[in-house]
Parts: sequence; structure tokens; C-alpha cells
Amino acid sequence: MEFQLKDDLKYTHTSTTQPRKDGSIPKNAGKKNIIIVGGGIIGACTAYYLTRHPNFDPSLYHITIFEATSVACGSSGKAGGLLAAWAFPEQIVPLSFDLHQELSDLYDGEENWGYRRLNIISLESNMRRYKKFNKNLMMNDSFDNDSIDNEKELEELRKINQKRREEDKKKPFPSKRKGYFFINDDEDEDEDDENGDSQRNEAQIYESQQNFEESHTPKSSPGDMLNEEVEQQQQQQQQQTHTPQEELPQQIDQSEHSRTPENPSMNPLPPQLNWIKTQGISNWSALGDTDTTAQIHPFKFTHFILQKAMETGAVDLISAKVTRIIKNSDNSVSGVAYVLTENGKILNNNNTSNNTTNNSNITPNSQPSNETSPNTSTNEPSSIDFKNELEMVDAENVILTMGPWTSKLLPNCPIYGLRAHSITIQPSVEEISPFAIFTELKIEDSKYFSPEIYPRTDEVYVCGEGDTMVELPELASEIVIEKEKCDELYYYVSKLAPTLSEGYIKTRQACYLPVLNVSNSSGPLIGETNLKNLFVASGHSCWGINNAPATGKLLAELLLEGEASSADISALNPTLFFTVD
Ligand SMILES: Cc1cc2nc3c(=O)[nH]c(=O)nc-3n(C[C@H](O)[C@H](O)[C@H](O)COP(=O)(O)OP(=O)(O)OC[C@H]3O[C@@H](n4cnc5c(N)ncnc54)[C@H](O)[C@@H]3O)c2cc1C
Repeated sequence: MEFQLKDDLKYTHTSTTQPRKDGSIPKNAGKKNIIIVGGGIIGACTAYYLTRHPNFDPSLYHITIFEATSVACGSSGKAGGLLAAWAFPEQIVPLSFDLHQELSDLYDGEENWGYRRLNIISLESNMRRYKKFNKNLMMNDSFDNDSIDNEKELEELRKINQKRREEDKKKPFPSKRKGYFFINDDEDEDEDDENGDSQRNEAQIYESQQNFEESHTPKSSPGDMLNEEVEQQQQQQQQQTHTPQEELPQQIDQSEHSRTPENPSMNPLPPQLNWIKTQGISNWSALGDTDTTAQIHPFKFTHFILQKAMETGAVDLISAKVTRIIKNSDNSVSGVAYVLTENGKILNNNNTSNNTTNNSNITPNSQPSNETSPNTSTNEPSSIDFKNELEMVDAENVILTMGPWTSKLLPNCPIYGLRAHSITIQPSVEEISPFAIFTELKIEDSKYFSPEIYPRTDEVYVCGEGDTMVELPELASEIVIEKEKCDELYYYVSKLAPTLSEGYIKTRQACYLPVLNVSNSSGPLIGETNLKNLFVASGHSCWGINNAPATGKLLAELLLEGEASSADISALNPTLFFTVD
């Protein structure tokens, strides 16, 4: 299988076993089959740690991963990639944070998936204190670079942007600029800095450096946002609907840096964070530094780790959507039913036959007597033709690592999907200092917007809040991406950072966060269900990238040792939260 990325990155996963023409999968004779459903970061890490476990013998075990669309097509490929020792849940975070470092040391994570330590702050800013952009430009078709799929075209666009910028500089009152944002000088509603610029002078940077190094001692700075207003903001923030993105760490330095009218000289941000315009910022706090915080490129990481698992020859990756769990009469799992997929579409062609194959563990289109089938004929999407359904049985274990899709197979499982949009931006400068930023932007009197900004070595990633407007589709390839939501993200972060406004959007995307919908836990669920040998590792919420290595390692221990020895995960046991019928 080969995956092509826009920026020319190629990932090839070569299975030792390929489905036959009739879609059936040849049996790995005499081996214990472990089935993993879902090729996101949790599935990839599970396969990896299974193959690395001392009790894993490739002559005894074989792993088959079923992935319905493509590896890391969901949130595992579209997440920010923040790693934090202060994430949740506390049972697995320290283990996982250390395992990320270990993997990076082992495989040069810096080079292969952009692993690096970084700082993170949260900031509050009044966006009415920035000049307005012409929002219409952002919606202009000429700005749409969705179709850009190679470096040459991107380079071309960069040149066009550069040329336009130079031309426009010569004009006293530029009225129309296409292809990038500009500050509309006609707008007088918003004020700007005296300099009208985010670039801070050396004295400011020196002063700011002192401030940062003195353990973030609160100082004040120019600005007319009063503490009263800050308090109001905080109250409103607390009253807002809770989304996982708003979970802030508890254990870290919470010292705040608030603007007050008394001290008009402070530059309100850490010195190295020189790419943010400061005039609207009322308040910031350090959430973590390089001791406790890191980042990865989650798409690259997932593919790399899966590749390492597959190099053992003990792992196959099959492009198929699992449609049912099949169980034995003794309430244990026996396998899965599936339909083949290709390029994110279900194959409903004549390639699949209904003939029984000569493999004892493959039974095309036979209806088992015991099954968990959430999809009745009425709510099953019309695209699935069940005549093409095949089965893989005689599985030793089945592990569901399907993220938000888990409840599609197990309807009692309280995990749902929360859609979130994100973009990647090519900034106008080569390097942006490594500061992740959680924002709370006041955009109207009582309206806030909270993008998260993650600079990477070669781009800047920005994601927004979750929405419940569109239900989780059957396949990741069918996720609806709303351009306006992506453009809104760009609009506001561009106001904060000129280097972004002078750059361009590389990717607009959306994915679903796997959220556990119970009051007493934020997830994830890791462990065996009441159906013997059926395991679930899902509901990782906003920390699945961070917690994937620990999840994979713990699952490997559960399967191959009989208990999780690296951490106490009894509170995450799926049987505490739901029952498989
Ligand atoms: C906007 C956003 C930003 C985030 N940022 C961070 C971050 O900075 N740090 C962090 O730690 N976490 C972050 N997260 C959370 C993290 O991305 C998720 O918790 C994690 O990716 C979940 O991984 P997963 O493998 O469980 O699920 P997914 O990535 O959703 O993978 C599930 C896979 O299962 C496949 N599948 C589904 N149904 C079937 C089927 N029937 N048969 C076969 N295959 C199937 C899907 O195609 C998919 O590939 C973020 C999430 C979002 C939405």
C-alpha cells in the first residue's frame, strides 16, 4: 500500500499477505491471529508494541490490521501533535511521555517525525485591538489553494505572493490584493500598536527575556484592558460549554501575566515568542516548558511506527471496513466480518465471490449464528453491499482501535465523535520559534474563539474547537470539511501573527475527536470487554497522540502477559463503562 502526501512524502506499507482476488485473506497456517481494527495511531502503536514484546514470537503469532480508509486518515493524521507530561489521564501519561522520548532516541524522531521539545503558553487577547483584514479576500476563489499538490505549484504561489507584496508596498493605499491577507488601512474601528507591527525592539525583547527567565514573574504592559475585563473573560470562559480542547493542565505553573494600567512598559510575552502581535494581549500563562512538553508530526509518526511493526513480517495491513464482530457460542470473540475498500471507497464489485475458500479461517458471506451487529439493514449505509461481506474467523484476539467509530461496531460503547477543523499554514519566514499557543480570543463583546497554534519545523498547524453539526460518517473519506471554518481559523491567527498572514494555507482539513461520553471519566478505555478476547483501546479524547505509545505497550502486556504491568489501568477498564451484547 502506498500513501502519497501533498508535500511529496511517501509511505509504503508492504504486507506479506495480500487478499486474494475473491477478497479473502490467506491464512497464516498454524499461527494465532490477532486482529486490529483501525489503522490510526493507537492501532499502529499496538501493532508495534506487540511485535516488540518479549513473548511475541512471529512464528506463533500473526497480526492483521483492518483499515477502512487509509493509515492515519482520521485525527491521528490531523491532530496538533502536542505531547505533555501534564496531560491526562495520570495513569498512563508519564509512561507515554517517556516512551515518546524513547522512540525518538531509537529511530531519530527529530528527523523522521519532527519530534522536539517546546514551550507552551495560553494567552488571552482582545481581537478588536488589531486592525481588520479584508475577510472577503479570504473567501476569494483565487485564494483557494486546496488543489495545490506539489512543491512546484507551492513555489509558484510563494513567488506570486512575494511579487504582489512588493508591488503593493509601492502603492500608497492598496485597494485590492489577491492571494494573501492584508491589513485594510481603510478600517479605523480597530487600533494598532504605535508601531503598527509585531516586531518588537531589542529593549523590549531584553526586558521580556528577563521576565521569562525570572520564572514568569507577573508584570504589566501597555494596554487598556482592565483587570475587571479580564475577570469577566475568565468567568465567561468558565461558563462556556466544555469541550476537551478546553481542558487545561492542573499541575503546571499557573502564574499569570496580566496587563494592568499601572505598568505600561512590559512586553507581555516571552522573548523568544517574537512572531505574535502583542497589542491585544491581556493575559498569558506558561503551561509547560521543554522539560514537560514536546511535539510530533502525528501523521509521520503513525506511518513510521506502523512501518517498523510491518518490517517484522508479522503484520499485514488490509484495506477493508470491518462490519461486524463475530462471536463463539461461549461468549468469546471468534473474528470479524468485513468488506474490502479501495481509496476510501467500499468495493462493491464482482471481484468478491461467495465461494468458500480453502482456508479454514475465512468464510465469505456466511452469516454466523452469534454476532454483534449494530448496523441493521435500515441504518446501514447504502454503499455497503453485504453480498460482498467476508469473514476472518479463528482469531485469538480482536482489538478495536477505531477511535470515534468504535460505537459503530459496539453500539453500547459510550464513545462519540466530535468534529474539529484544522489548517496547516506555510508561514512567510523559514523558522518560527517553537511555542505552542492555546488562545482565548475575544472577537466580540461576549464572543470568544479559541484556536490552538502549533508551529512545526516546516509549517504552522492551527486547530479550532469541536462542533456537533455533522455526524460522524461511515468512512473518514466522507468527512465534510467546511472551508469557512478553516478560513476563520486563518483569519484570526493571521491577525495575531503577520508571518502567517503573509503566508498561505497549505491544507484545510477536518477530523473527529474520540470522546468518552460519561460523567466520571475522560477516557480512554483500555482493556478486555465482557466478550472474551475482544479488547478496546479507544476514547483518547484530545490526548491520543500523547497516550498512544503507552496504550500500545499496555495492550501488548494484556494480551501477551495476561495483565498490564507498566501501569495501573484498572480505572480505564471498558467493562466499567459498557457491555457488549
Ligand atoms: C483537532 C484535533 C487536534 C488534536 N491534537 C492533539 C494533540 O495535539 N495531542 C494529542 O495527544 N492528541 C490530540 N488529538 C487527539 C488525537 O488526535 C486522538 O485522540 C487520536 O488520534 C485517536 O487515535 P485513534 O487511533 O484512536 O483514532 P483515529 O485516528 O480516528 O483512527 C481510527 C481509525 O479506524 C479506522 N476505522 C474506523 N472504523 C473502521 C472499520 N469499521 N473498519 C476498519 N477501520 C476502521 C478509521 O478509518 C481510522 O483510521 C487531537 C484531536 C483533534 C481532533
